[in-house]
Amino acid sequence: ITSRLPDVGTTIFTTMSALAVQHQAVNLGQGFPDFGCDPALTAAVTQAMQQGHNQYPPMAGVAALREAVAHKIHTLYGHAYDAVTEITITAGATQALLTAILAATQPGDEVIVLDPCYDSYVPAIQMAGATAVRVPLTPGSFRPDFARIAAAITVRTRMLVINSPHNPSGTVWTEAEMLQLQELLAPTNVLLLSDEVYEHMVFDGKPHLSASRYPALAARSFVVSSFGKTFHVTGWKVGTVAAPAALMAEFRKIHQFNVFTVNTPMQVGLAQYLQNPQPYVQLPAFYQAKRDAFRAGLAKTRLKPMDCSGTYFQTVDISAVSTQSEAAFCEWLTQEIGVAAIPTSAFYGDGFDQGMVRFCFAKQEQTLQQALERLQKL
Ligand code: PMP
Ligand code: GLN
Repeated sequence: ITSRLPDVGTTIFTTMSALAVQHQAVNLGQGFPDFGCDPALTAAVTQAMQQGHNQYPPMAGVAALREAVAHKIHTLYGHAYDAVTEITITAGATQALLTAILAATQPGDEVIVLDPCYDSYVPAIQMAGATAVRVPLTPGSFRPDFARIAAAITVRTRMLVINSPHNPSGTVWTEAEMLQLQELLAPTNVLLLSDEVYEHMVFDGKPHLSASRYPALAARSFVVSSFGKTFHVTGWKVGTVAAPAALMAEFRKIHQFNVFTVNTPMQVGLAQYLQNPQPYVQLPAFYQAKRDAFRAGLAKTRLKPMDCSGTYFQTVDISAVSTQSEAAFCEWLTQEIGVAAIPTSAFYGDGFDQGMVRFCFAKQEQTLQQALERLQKL
């Protein structure tokens, strides 16, 4: 057959995790926690199965879960989505992103992504037959460059994908930037796909600035999140998308024939768990403590930590330690030092190499300490 995705190979996350296993390295590469979730959550899912919630749920998701999601968004971000027509439960954020792109674009349309970006966006755009237009974030700071985004908008631009808190850099968009985005898009028909999977990992007392907070953005947005990140269950693959009813109607046409529905007991269990008062409220402090401990350890190495205002990723500047490419450095670090990391160049279309690699700090204290002891030998 002729490949639909001729340029796609194994993802960098799979590659680095395999290399970490092979060399018994501490795996700070692929983003996933090495600790469990709240036992009350697994108990809720187990109970859902035992109570017989094992057949197809409604196409858009279990009603109680959609209501809990709508309630959360209203409480935290002030936007009232209709749980019946404006919230859908997906098989992780990955399926939500693909389905939103398939729903919104026609072959030949352009979708702008901001490099470095998560690795599923561009293949999803290609699967839709649309064209990805890669606009770089400002090198070094990873801030959005509105002049460059504006210059990339053409009559064919159908969608812009943003991601704050940002994987891989750990940066978070400011209020001024969100308002500037709202202003930039106001005279256009460009839709916004806002990947907010790290919405509950924003540090230093700052709020998460969801696109749903800004009425003119919410009116043109698909807002995507993931329970995998929020509740330490990346393997469950349950995500959410919120969008105005007209956009959601098109989303569901694709969703219906893409997955039809998402597993029932996880949804019932999550809905039950979300009845607890704000179970995500501890998350920023929980991850901030890990970030602070990891950064304190990095201060004793020759790696220079960059800004980390959100996510569970810490990028570091490797220039004092290595003149190799980021990818070669990550391989060497895994094999010789015993710590796996991800090259940020893997998130760029052109492999732009600025001497920065990403560590995941969603790890137990002892895992982070073991990695730091090894990194201190650099
Ligand atoms: N977007 C970003 C920015 C991510 O980091 C991830 C997880 N790696 C996803 C989407 C996918 O989330 P999920 O595992 O829920 O599909
Ligand atoms: N989102 C995770 C990361 O950025 C990895 C998910 C995956 O392996 N596709 O590390």
